Amino acid sequence: MFEDMPKVELHLHLDGAIPPRTVLQIAARNGLMDLLPGNTEAAVARWFAFQDFYHFMDVVRTIKNLLRTPEDFALAVYAMGRELAAQNVRYAEITVTPYTYVGVLKQGVTIEMILAGLEAGRQQVRDEFGVELRWVFDIPRNRSFADYRNGGDYVAGAAERTLEFALMGRDVGVIGLGLGGSELNAPPEPFAPVFAEAKRYGLKSLPHAGESEGPASVWGAIDHLQADRVGHGIRAIDDPRLMAELASRQIPLEISPTCNATLNFVSGLAEHPFPKFDAAGVLVTVNTDDPTLIGTTLTQEYQLLVDVFGYTRADVVRIARNAFTACYAEADLKARLLAEFDGWAAGQI
Ligand SMILES: [Zn+2]
Repeated sequence: MFEDMPKVELHLHLDGAIPPRTVLQIAARNGLMDLLPGNTEAAVARWFAFQDFYHFMDVVRTIKNLLRTPEDFALAVYAMGRELAAQNVRYAEITVTPYTYVGVLKQGVTIEMILAGLEAGRQQVRDEFGVELRWVFDIPRNRSFADYRNGGDYVAGAAERTLEFALMGRDVGVIGLGLGGSELNAPPEPFAPVFAEAKRYGLKSLPHAGESEGPASVWGAIDHLQADRVGHGIRAIDDPRLMAELASRQIPLEISPTCNATLNFVSGLAEHPFPKFDAAGVLVTVNTDDPTLIGTTLTQEYQLLVDVFGYTRADVVRIARNAFTACYAEADLKARLLAEFDGWAAGQI
């Protein structure tokens, strides 16, 4: 029902958006087939399917380990872009975690290789599909705290290096600094200086918060990181004062209903607080987070607003438009995207 609706996606991880076929292709050409559970698309798809959080993290780590050359990154971006184009996604802000490639896996991957590969893929996606991509480089927050516990300084580790990488990428589509990874025992506050510096250089503050941890995490993101949007933020539902703050300041939330339900951060889709945020006047957007790993598409996420939450078609159009207003495309592109969406919506009545 929403296949042809023009879409913007704001919360999508590259690692979780590479089709099984492309994962196989990359593993084969790098001689890394032994890292995969089988040599067919069906076997990789079965392995992708969510079992529990540890398995999920294991799959993500393996996918990261497979990407070793600029061509690998370019192909991953291209394959993801083709999936986006098939759903009429017109613009997307994609989260990439460069530190986990260059700082942890140590497979000889450099930031220059990553930037070159992302840019080659981005241009190909633009030329072939007319889809515009921008990047959010996110700090693996738990990694920062691990560095800290091992005697290092957490901002000097993952956080500072991620900022350095993001600044290097400003000319090739990096628009924001993110904060990802497990929130458990990794609150936002210590990252305040890094986000303040990112903002001084014109990058947006786009942290994950309030996905698994409570309202304090979201307060930390908006008060200490000056979040321009919040990734997930669903636990804000437990704090009426925070709900009022998000609504009055119109700080957009990037919500991924199926992902939240699959990772058991809500007890089921029907229990997802999405409609309550919307009713409270919070600017909500719909996203997939990791579409290939949790088995969803952005089209399906919009459809579930109707099927699970009882939204009307007009409600869905209103929600879908939020992502266009909350994106950080440059002004002329944003105006073009909005005009395209409004033109489509006008034709629906
Ligand atoms: Zn995420």
